[in-house]
Amino acid sequence: MKKIAILGSTGSIGTQTLEVARTNGDLEITALAAGGNIQLLEAQIREFHPSLVAVWTEEKAKVLKTKIADLDVKVVAGMEGLLEVATQPEAEILVTAIVGMIGIRPTIAAMKAGKDIALANKETLVTAGHIIMPLAEEYGVKILPVDSEHSAIFQCMNGENRGQLHKILLTASGGPFRGKKREELKNVQVEDALKHPNWAMGRKITIDSSTLVNKGLEMMEARWLFGVEPENIQIVVQPKSIIHSMVEFVDGAVIAQLGTPDMKLPIQYALYYPDRKYLPGERLDFWSLNQITFERPDMENFPGLRLAFDAAAAGGSLPTVYNAANERAVAKFLNREIGYLDITEIIETCMKEHTVIAAPTVEQILETEAATYEMIESRW
Ligand code: NDP
Repeated sequence: MKKIAILGSTGSIGTQTLEVARTNGDLEITALAAGGNIQLLEAQIREFHPSLVAVWTEEKAKVLKTKIADLDVKVVAGMEGLLEVATQPEAEILVTAIVGMIGIRPTIAAMKAGKDIALANKETLVTAGHIIMPLAEEYGVKILPVDSEHSAIFQCMNGENRGQLHKILLTASGGPFRGKKREELKNVQVEDALKHPNWAMGRKITIDSSTLVNKGLEMMEARWLFGVEPENIQIVVQPKSIIHSMVEFVDGAVIAQLGTPDMKLPIQYALYYPDRKYLPGERLDFWSLNQITFERPDMENFPGLRLAFDAAAAGGSLPTVYNAANERAVAKFLNREIGYLDITEIIETCMKEHTVIAAPTVEQILETEAATYEMIESRW
């Protein structure tokens, strides 16, 4: 049985990872980490029997310990707890399904402990890709993409010569506001932005999809995962999310991966790679699909994507500012403290005022994150 630890087990990716484990019955869940949803975590512990679990605060850890006093499970807390889960000796693969830059340190620790990474936590690669990718090489561990687009690219590249890749065609649904002008987006409410046309995901990534910031983060994630310059990543809007992404080789051949929008496919592919397993669920029916359409992304009305290309071109610590500013601005929008259009305005202002550090260390990345948060708190 393959042994798996999960960071963020109570979230959208975390619960779907456990669903894959439940359906297949041949994965052993050795450790789980969650933020604060101890009710769900307790149910997961009782079903999957991990020997180690982490929650974010000491208070929650105390409550959880009481709830599962009848079980032989070690409960840990905070960053130390996340690091313990990430490096637990039994686990072979760590699924990073936590949200935000908090994933950087546990991901690095897991790689140093020889674990393969099933990576959903894109913020880690966006901000620390220059550290993560060489580390994977140094420690001989695999980084298996869970993001559907990156899994698609990974599948298209299977057995191909990476040196012959010409460009990546990263597909985007365009989000719920595709076709709208900036003027029309002024009064967008949290409920409107949380309605993704094709995918059911966590709240933060759903907002990011609506602003196209998610595509910007994915472009930077792809850049590191596949060693491609940002100018060789073309964003293609394909509203139905049927083509999960494509690659073009030097001879002009384009290979695509298609499927119904179901995150369990990329999750399962990462967990069993290079094997494929039967996955129950809806299949693509080309007779009823009828047509697939394509568009150019609208970077004028959705500056979140343009800003990502600017951040990627400058590199260094600027992607951290882009990501941190977005993270905090989205939290404020979800809290109804700022308007929808303020999200990208905040990102742009923070980026303009930042002095780029080339090749930042983890400490510098985390300092940049904190400084960005501070700036936002003091101004908005
Ligand atoms: P969710 O918001 O649904 O889940 C986040 C998870 O992280 C929860 O389990 C949450 O715990 C946990 N968490 C948050 N803060 C902490 C903390 N301080 N310590 C420990 N655990 C914490 O997010 P998603 O599943 O949507 O996304 C996770 C990652 O995957 C993101 O990086 C996202 O970009 C990426 N991704 C998601 C996709 C999707 O379809 N959802 C698709 C592709 C990538 P709790 O709820 O208990 O507080």
